[in-house]
Amino acid sequence: MRKYVIMGVQGSGKGTQSALLAADLDLVHIAVGDIFRWNVQHHTKLGAQVRRTMAAGELVSDDLVEGVVSERLRQHDWNYGFIIDGFPRNERQAGFFLESYDIDGVIQLELPDSEVRRRVMARRLCANCGLDYNLINNSPRDEGKCDACGGKLVQREDDTEAALAVRLEDYHTKTNPVLELFRRKEYVVSIDARPDKEHVQRAIRRALSLPAYQPASR
Ligand code: AMP
Repeated sequence: MRKYVIMGVQGSGKGTQSALLAADLDLVHIAVGDIFRWNVQHHTKLGAQVRRTMAAGELVSDDLVEGVVSERLRQHDWNYGFIIDGFPRNERQAGFFLESYDIDGVIQLELPDSEVRRRVMARRLCANCGLDYNLINNSPRDEGKCDACGGKLVQREDDTEAALAVRLEDYHTKTNPVLELFRRKEYVVSIDARPDKEHVQRAIRRALSLPAYQPASR
């Protein structure tokens, strides 16, 4: 059983790296932002509660987030473990998490703010299946269309200059202290997120002493 937390600024590749790790190690990838986006897209009560906050780039209330995370983890479909992405994002959430779960490692993806803007503005998401793309190095075969399901590619509602500024500020002021806390517990491995995704995945595996990464195409 392996339990990991992945942290990093917007656009640092948390979703991509978590998915690669999860697929290979049979981990469940829990992305809190994806859960919220699903609820917004499907017009649930929760979606209505978080939609405006998310679009403005602000953090959703701790009570709501903690409820969503607890409920997700209570499903216990994670026989081999999980990798959680987008949580905890402040010290209260970290305290809540550590009360119930021990963790095996925290992966910190490091990316300078100057690179964040470029990546985030180039990010696209399939409105139908949620698969993500990046027009810098991971474009779809047909412009504007999802390779997997043919759905329309859209920008995330919070991938705007204004919302990104709020999200970055929150990351530096509220999430960095969480990293410090985890660092004191010696959980954190810091990985340079600038190279291509395979390179980053290999570095993560090495840092956590996990089986080496072998891309499916090889
Ligand atoms: P993400 O996809 O991780 O960038 O999350 C998208 C949005 O969901 C964030 O900008 C917040 O509005 C909300 N959100 C996701 N995770 C959290 C969290 N741990 N605490 C508060 N809000 C969150």
